[in-house]
Amino acid sequence: LAQLFRPLDLLGMVYRTIRQGVIDMASMFALIDTPAEVVDAPGAAALAVAQGHVRFEDVRFGYDPDREILKGLDLDVPAGSTLAVVGPSGAGKSTLARLMYRFYDVAAGRITIDGQDIRDVQQASLRAAIGIVPQDTVLFNDTIGYNIAYGREGASRAEVEAAAAGAVIAGFIERQPDGYDARVGERGLKLSGGEKQRVAIARTLLKNPPILILDEATSALDSRTEAEILDTLEAIERGRTTIVIAHRLSTVVHADQIVVLDGGRVAERGTHAELLRLGGTYAEMWARQAQDDDVAGASEGALAAE
Ligand code: ADP
Ligand code: MG
Repeated sequence: LAQLFRPLDLLGMVYRTIRQGVIDMASMFALIDTPAEVVDAPGAAALAVAQGHVRFEDVRFGYDPDREILKGLDLDVPAGSTLAVVGPSGAGKSTLARLMYRFYDVAAGRITIDGQDIRDVQQASLRAAIGIVPQDTVLFNDTIGYNIAYGREGASRAEVEAAAAGAVIAGFIERQPDGYDARVGERGLKLSGGEKQRVAIARTLLKNPPILILDEATSALDSRTEAEILDTLEAIERGRTTIVIAHRLSTVVHADQIVVLDGGRVAERGTHAELLRLGGTYAEMWARQAQDDDVAGASEGALAAE
């Protein structure tokens, strides 16, 4: 009987999503967008994360077979280190997050975690090991507490509150008449893009995954809130493998390794200081950004990195 109702649930969900725009992107993808061929291999074992060493080996991928987005991408993210990925809009940065979470399979090459091809492991175990703070967070039509607690089944109220504090959203929630029981969505709280991002960050803090992907996770925050959260993000990056996809370079300065993605490949690779010395695309981006926004803040960052 449950099987019979699933298509109806799905239809209802799609309808509500269009109407309200409040559903989690991960479940949207999982239910609707995941191509049928992304299934567990027969006899797939659970992913065993020892250290969390992530590699992309000559990865090729396109959403359409005749338009390749990634054209032989090599990335090596040693366990516990932070890799930052920058590059023009449309370069394929979010695509590599989607490939890691296995919303899609690579067309050629492979992605490994601690030597295991992610196509050979159970998807549930892969997704349990990776936390993504997506570019656009869409929330469940439920309470704000539920939206954070979703990060980890069985989380206590105290743990939810600690995660909210880490994501600088606790004060906002406590100011709501219903606090953590305040509903989000059409008839409830209308959260701004920045507030939704902070809910997503809280959820990920709670999930506490060994591998973390931040996809322009602070893009909707004003610079003051971003500054408050950067400390938290840097703290959670410590000791876990992190891929930071960034538009604002303030979030990448401290990365162990920065790659510039362009034309489907790694165009430049190095630390912040090395890439500035190289005087290529990254240096140009840095100069432009320093000019555009907070000049003082940006040059402070540059000095700190040197
Ligand atoms: P970035 O995050 O670097 O801005 P994306 O990885 O989101 O870029 O997208 C890379 C390219 O793939 C873009 O040209 C985008 O239009 C295209 N693209 C993204 N998602 C899809 C999709 N679901 N179907 C088809 N094309 C897509
Ligand atoms: Mg993107």
